[in-house]
Amino acid sequence: MNRPANLDVLLQPRPPSPLQEIHDERFERHGVRLLLKRDDLIHSTIPWDTDLFGPVDLYPPGNKWRKLAPNLRAALAAGHGRLATFGGAYSNHLRATAAAGRLLGLETVGLVRGDELADRPLNDSLARCAADGMRLCFVTRAEYRRKAEPEVLARLLAAAGAPDAYVVPEGGSNALALTGCAELGRELRGLCDVAAVACGTGGTLAGLAAGLAPGQSALGVPVLAGGFLGAEIRSLQAAAFGGPVGSWTLAEGYDHGGYARVPRPLEAFAADFEARHGVPVERIYVAKLLWALEALTATGAFSPGTTVTAVVTGRPY
Ligand SMILES: *Cc1c(COP(=O)(O)O)cnc(C)c1O
Repeated sequence: MNRPANLDVLLQPRPPSPLQEIHDERFERHGVRLLLKRDDLIHSTIPWDTDLFGPVDLYPPGNKWRKLAPNLRAALAAGHGRLATFGGAYSNHLRATAAAGRLLGLETVGLVRGDELADRPLNDSLARCAADGMRLCFVTRAEYRRKAEPEVLARLLAAAGAPDAYVVPEGGSNALALTGCAELGRELRGLCDVAAVACGTGGTLAGLAAGLAPGQSALGVPVLAGGFLGAEIRSLQAAAFGGPVGSWTLAEGYDHGGYARVPRPLEAFAADFEARHGVPVERIYVAKLLWALEALTATGAFSPGTTVTAVVTGRPY
């Protein structure tokens, strides 16, 4: 595999992801204009040379690529041949890291939450990681919780046979990732009043807010309950930019029972949105975002004349 050529392809400037206007009565009757920022189509805007690399399926596209690209650049610049990262059994970030490793000729090690998974057949998501060459190491939940402690991290990496790996944190959210996501905000400058995104770790929101122009604001919809996200976003911004940048708020109360929970009304909402607009709706994050925007619009949270962009951070698996 030709690593430098692959790296060029991955890291060259890309055209912005498409912005799509949605005509939806439920927004328009409140005077709200809804745009979709189709980061789920990022893969189609990367001009892969299929002659050189063969067919490339960049699952998952979207925000995970924006977060990974600066980390890949840093890892390669520092001469690392190996990436290690963390995730749960269904982690989009693990899949993105595995795919990136294959494309760039980097070894990848995935530290997966839950040692009970070691004796079970791999689910589709982990099987995909393994097919892309990722070495999977299963970690007890107790150790996984303490993975940010330097001694625990060193022990986990040593046990995985990767003591020298470049480490990307769970979900891919670190200071470099925020610089990648700030590009998302810059692509939206002048194009909307509010840029809304679903939040897991909050890294995408933290970067997005930093890239927007003054007068624009970012709105985050947490997909898990907890209330720690605000502090996490502030600390991510402090690490990346030295302090708070841009304007952002969180809309709490739209987690629908927690991470990866898709109760029947949410499923029905997502299927209906897909049927009416022909846009695939990823259920774990994007469905909760669109639901929240419709609910906020209905309660008059956006004044008439507001243009809201929903970032479509991924596509259904
Ligand atoms: C990971 C992910 C998010 C959340 O991104 P964070 O930066 O962790 O907040 C949103 N949407 C999709 C589709 C994702 O895979």
